[in-house]
Amino acid sequence: SAKNKGGNRVTVYSQKLNPSEIERPRLEAHLRNAIENEKIEVFYQPKINAKTGTIFGAEALVRWTDEEFGVVSPEVFIPIAEDTGLIQPLWDFVMKHASKQVSDWNSNLSQPLTISINFSAMQFQEPCVMLQKVEDILAESKLPPGQLEIEITESILLSNSSEIVHTLKSLQDLGIAVSIDDFGTGYSSLSYLKDLPINTLKIDQSFIQNIDKDLRNTEIPEAIINLARSLHLDVIAEGVEEEYQKEFLLSKDCMRMQGYLFSKPLSKVDFEQFLKKYH
Ligand code: C2E
Ligand code: MG
Ligand code: MG
Ligand code: MG
Repeated sequence: SAKNKGGNRVTVYSQKLNPSEIERPRLEAHLRNAIENEKIEVFYQPKINAKTGTIFGAEALVRWTDEEFGVVSPEVFIPIAEDTGLIQPLWDFVMKHASKQVSDWNSNLSQPLTISINFSAMQFQEPCVMLQKVEDILAESKLPPGQLEIEITESILLSNSSEIVHTLKSLQDLGIAVSIDDFGTGYSSLSYLKDLPINTLKIDQSFIQNIDKDLRNTEIPEAIINLARSLHLDVIAEGVEEEYQKEFLLSKDCMRMQGYLFSKPLSKVDFEQFLKKYH
């Protein structure tokens, strides 16, 4: 609903609108409070192997509903969290909750799920601290490193590349997989890509949504699928909404998909219902 509990104030922050200069400090204060008091929540979007019709993993996506501002989109509050340093405690929260949750689910599943977690640039500012935290959280939640994947955008790779590359390599050495999110929208030079410690290219949803029912605009997704294959990387498509987009991807042997066609991001309870049907 567009209206919050408090009355008829229409929530604008669920849209991709920027908070006004005046409201931003208050939004920031509310966000700080929400993180400190753990009033944020982790949702899980299924990752599907569309060839076998099974779920193999989930992406953790943070959710925040403020008492005053209503539902605030991550597109709005993640940039604020990144600007203010709040992305550190937010990351802690998501890492701990998602790792524990998936570890719990996996104890009842014959085929364990992988959990994918979005990392921001700030997570790479103190690599040793971050790596130690990752190890501690995995140990505490009893999640094997092979069941954790991190998602980073191309822009992170461009900043301070040699140290980032070293950190990604350390994560891989622990057994954690590295995926490039929103692939194709950044500026990765392809020769550079060849030497990076990465496991997966995640095709940006804009390319998938441009594929129409007459199968026009398939060139870029097809090129990314071929690129991944040449580099011996896995590939996944995000933002799959239509059956014909799924069929196109399957015809190119891209079996891993994520999108509203299969499921929106789900609360813990709803994800458990989904698991019963798809696992
Ligand atoms: P992302 O990591 O690229 O996540 C995919 C976004 O696309 C999610 O939006 C998801 O809900 C949405 N989506 C998934 N399938 C479909 C589809 O079929 N159609 C359409 N139209 N959208 C789809 P969401 O949850 O609003 O998150 C937006 C972005 O915020 C994420 O993009 C990610 O960059 C960031 N984000 C979310 N949670 C976290 C977090 O815990 N940490 C960090 N650092 N960033 C996060
Ligand atoms: Mg992501
Ligand atoms: Mg993405
Ligand atoms: Mg994105």
